[in-house]
Amino acid sequence: MRSEEKLLNKSFSHIYVEDEARSYPLTREIIKRFENSKIVEISNYKEVFSRNNQNFSLQKVTPKLILAVKKDGFLYKGAKVCESFGNENFYYISSVINCVYDCEYCYLQGVYSSANIVIFVNIEDMFYEVEKELEKKSMYICISYDTDLLAIESITGLVKDWYNFCEKHKNLKIELRTKSANVVPFNDLKANPNFIVAWTLSPYEIAEKHESGTPGLEKRLESARKLVDSGWTVRICFDPVIYMENFKEVYGKMVDDTFEKIDSNRILDISIGTFRISKEYLKRMKKNRGPSKILYYPFHCENGVYTYEVEKKEMMMKYMKEKVLQYANEEKIFI
Ligand code: SF4
Repeated sequence: MRSEEKLLNKSFSHIYVEDEARSYPLTREIIKRFENSKIVEISNYKEVFSRNNQNFSLQKVTPKLILAVKKDGFLYKGAKVCESFGNENFYYISSVINCVYDCEYCYLQGVYSSANIVIFVNIEDMFYEVEKELEKKSMYICISYDTDLLAIESITGLVKDWYNFCEKHKNLKIELRTKSANVVPFNDLKANPNFIVAWTLSPYEIAEKHESGTPGLEKRLESARKLVDSGWTVRICFDPVIYMENFKEVYGKMVDDTFEKIDSNRILDISIGTFRISKEYLKRMKKNRGPSKILYYPFHCENGVYTYEVEKKEMMMKYMKEKVLQYANEEKIFI
């Protein structure tokens, strides 16, 4: 059984359904899939998701599902700390909030007070908003920032929906970022160069101890390779790079393993970035997560963003860049 399936099978003892969401086809399909879950009717998802005094860590162990209708604010401008890969009109969209994985450094625990997973079932309204913008300009949209959309594809089908939408709009580029190894949904789809599948890669040591529920490096690489072999546009993200003892040895091996498995000439590009987080989010993340070697590192604050002290950051970036340059041309590397 794939790791995502194991996670999904034990999750969602309760499904909260907003009144307005009840009639949507996606709501019906999801409820059918979890026939043993208790259905609780609610009038607004924020009653459950945004209430005070929630225990994020506890909810992360057995998250509940919330099905809701998003009313507005579909498109968000890409944040400065996120790489645009040279694309103009960089946006992200949240059709799902929160994730079935549990990465110790995940910024979502700094943004939301709840770890319950919200699925907005009105994807057609989001497409309508995007279409209005596409009439005026081309767009680059990241669809898997506030979740790992591929990890929950078996319950939402949203990756396929976005793929079909992308097929219809030649001036739209999509990035699907993931740590999942579930490439089954791509089996019956034709590769589209404007639909980029971006794998976040972490060394075995980080995935094992700090990215609970995720497939390890080997499985992610196998999946990325499968898609490269079938002609998909694949991006590799070494981001966030996290400082640890024997950093060079561990991260050097990860880069070697990656490019032994995947021909760098056949991927779109590679991003490298060290862990960085806004001051406000880090404060909440520490509170929600409790003891964490990663989060309690004595970070240095630069313009409201916490990251490693200048010398350490430079050492990490220089090392990673030089290592990647052993396999790929500079033009492919985004920092
Ligand atoms: S996979 Fe991404 S979104 Fe999911 S918990 Fe990890 S960092 Fe957060």
